[in-house]
Amino acid sequence: MSNIYSTNKIIYHPELLVAMKKGEQPYPIQLHLMPDNRCNHNCVFCSFRLFENKNTELFDRTSYIPENIMIKLLDDFKLMNGQAVEVTGGGEPLLYPYRTEMFKRIIKHEFDIGLVTNGVKVDQELAKLIGPHLTWARISIDAGTEETYSILRKTNKSDFAKALDAVSLLKRYSKKPDFKLGVGFVIENGNEDELVKLCRLAKENGADNVRIGATFHPEGIEHFNKGILDKAENLVAEAKQELEDEVFTIHDRLPERINNMKIGKQEYKFCGMKEVLCVVGGDCSVFTCCSLAFNKNGLIGNLKDEGLKDIWDSDKKKKMFRTFDPTVRCGYHCLYEYHNKFILKLLNKEENHVNFI
Ligand code: SF4
Ligand code: SF4
Repeated sequence: MSNIYSTNKIIYHPELLVAMKKGEQPYPIQLHLMPDNRCNHNCVFCSFRLFENKNTELFDRTSYIPENIMIKLLDDFKLMNGQAVEVTGGGEPLLYPYRTEMFKRIIKHEFDIGLVTNGVKVDQELAKLIGPHLTWARISIDAGTEETYSILRKTNKSDFAKALDAVSLLKRYSKKPDFKLGVGFVIENGNEDELVKLCRLAKENGADNVRIGATFHPEGIEHFNKGILDKAENLVAEAKQELEDEVFTIHDRLPERINNMKIGKQEYKFCGMKEVLCVVGGDCSVFTCCSLAFNKNGLIGNLKDEGLKDIWDSDKKKKMFRTFDPTVRCGYHCLYEYHNKFILKLLNKEENHVNFI
């Protein structure tokens, strides 16, 4: 069974660990690219649209990356030996007016490509262009009926069928042997009863996995109605029992998400994940990670002022990273809590008697 959501993948990049151990600041190998902050949906659980959330502090719902800045960004990332680009939101990335040029450049540079989308704007032309090059894609659906879908996403019921069609289309045009096609289900008050139903629909439409998460709300765990998360866990078990086989996996991220929310802040003073990835938003701002996207505590620079490589090489960025203390800067539930703790373990060699394996 595939483990695409492993939090330990840093072990495949020992050179980054060596650099971190030496106190160097390597170039990021993964870019979370949010080309367009605009969205055709207005989901009740959207981190960038929740009232007074950490991710709304600097968020401008109307901005998208100018074409010349996008091209320079991707060329810079290639120069920096970048490896993977996750095209995501922010807003809905497939609304981006220069999406064809963006994907062609990403393909030309031979980056590994991941895509997170609500799927509504996937059409045959796009699927033909990107399908053969995708390493993975995830269509966020989060409901098992068009009624719940339209309420949660504040959109037309007809978008539900379009999202499922997007799954089939990307499946049809995919080519890479290790391509993984997922559907996303974020647990929110009111959709939990449809979890199993969506997993069935995902499998029927050609997905090979469903990722179960939960809303990262400013109120944390308190946001959820009593009993919902326990109920969701039972439904995940039911879906796994009914649907999992050698070609279909349900990735249950709920326990990790719940734990992230319970912890709610960082107790470690070094964040390894900010050394290996970065986020670029539709307003051209560069951030340390998606947990701090559009928040001044994660702001590294802006591509309207200088290119990504120049930002990374600048004294300002180096000083920011050298003095970056998650216990001061972050203090939020962090998507990368497990990743960071694993990196710290590898860097600190916490275990004793390591030769008695
Ligand atoms: S589709 Fe994504 S970006 Fe758009 S509102 Fe929903 S969660 Fe936010
Ligand atoms: S929120 Fe997490 S990943 Fe982001 S900078 Fe803080 S510790 Fe690092």
